[in-house]
Amino acid sequence: MFVPALIERKRDGGALTAAEWRELLTAYQAGAVPDYQISALLMACFLRGLAREETAGLLDGMMASGSRLAFGKLGRKVIDKHSTGGVGDKVSLILAPLAAACGVAVPMMSGRGLGHTGGTLDKLESIPGFRTDLSLEATRAQVEKIGCAMIGQTPEIAPVDKKLYALRDVTATVECVPLIAASIMSKKLAEGLDGLVLDVKQGSGAFITDAERSLALAKTMIELGEDRGCPTVALLTAMDRPLGRACGNALEAEEAIMGLRGEGPEDLHEVTLAEGVEMLVLAGEKDRAAARRRLEEALKSGKAAETFQKIIEAQGGNPRCVDDPSILPQAEEVEVYYARKSGTIQRVEPRAIGRAVVEMGGGRRKVEDAVDPTVGFVITARPGQVVHASEPVASIFAKDADGIELGRRALDGAIEIGDGKPSALPLIQGRVTVKGVERHQ
Ligand code: URA
Repeated sequence: MFVPALIERKRDGGALTAAEWRELLTAYQAGAVPDYQISALLMACFLRGLAREETAGLLDGMMASGSRLAFGKLGRKVIDKHSTGGVGDKVSLILAPLAAACGVAVPMMSGRGLGHTGGTLDKLESIPGFRTDLSLEATRAQVEKIGCAMIGQTPEIAPVDKKLYALRDVTATVECVPLIAASIMSKKLAEGLDGLVLDVKQGSGAFITDAERSLALAKTMIELGEDRGCPTVALLTAMDRPLGRACGNALEAEEAIMGLRGEGPEDLHEVTLAEGVEMLVLAGEKDRAAARRRLEEALKSGKAAETFQKIIEAQGGNPRCVDDPSILPQAEEVEVYYARKSGTIQRVEPRAIGRAVVEMGGGRRKVEDAVDPTVGFVITARPGQVVHASEPVASIFAKDADGIELGRRALDGAIEIGDGKPSALPLIQGRVTVKGVERHQ
């Protein structure tokens, strides 16, 4: 294989065949192709794009670099969900045990915080003792036993994606729809799924802020899933404000526990149930209203919370946190934040909030950074809410006075108060399937 010829073809607008992607990625994985050649090829992909068949070839090459989960006779459908990432998005922590409590097998593989967006693994690891580094074999055994495991990308799953992602991160080639779609789907499809629900975030706090490009991402992932026999559906959900109230790892774990008890904020509950309905429908439920009732019943009866306790226990964590969230790590300093003036909340800017959590120590600036699980915000202010000057609208959680000051400045910028009706995105804007887009509202 003569790599410069492949780069040249891609650079000039041509395509690599599926066999070429596979051979190239195998050689790259084996260390036989240097990073600088793959970097040049990734930049050519970024600038030229990839057609449907080529994206599929890349995806198949990525999946072929590792193993796949295989469930024998499980007697349950295997369904997962994936969010493109946002601020305050703790839906996975509620939805995985909830769907499992409703009879779905959920081998949920998640990521860490990326840029200003939080990551499910960091939130789970704020639970004392919780381990997310399960092997594929341990994951399979746990899903068979309790219906769900919540893990990170194992070294066995699409290892070449991990190498490519690290390279994209330092060569400004992350924000490319086909590269993102192939990367995400290489991991999801390796879970041996019968169905996949995607939560594609829209708005300024989303990973991709442009509505057209995020819809293109949803469609590309749906095509990749469906073409490989995995029914895939996406919901387009609002990320022009944080989801729920808590932003920061342990604070979000606590809010997720409240959600599992049916005591969480309304927007979080609605997004969780909407995605849960899609998961149950993919698992065979014919009636959407019945799916919703089953989810509500699993929350109300305590079965979903109990399933979360089983998952925590199986993965080395302290399951008592579900009954007593005060055993989650607590911030050293807490300060109430008051509205700066009277008026209507116009915006709660999620990107500024997510960035502040990272700066306060709750996310990473470098891969090797440790994360402080305790820091973040609880923001009760919602767009459209009328507030009076000096009314409490948020709390800041930090490790010291500098962190509190940083949080205060972030909220000054993020919470915009003015006159008139704000323009917020509908919580759930649409549903995308292989047949097309259904707009809600
Ligand atoms: N998450 C992934 O797993 N891959 C990407 O390329 C972007 C986000």
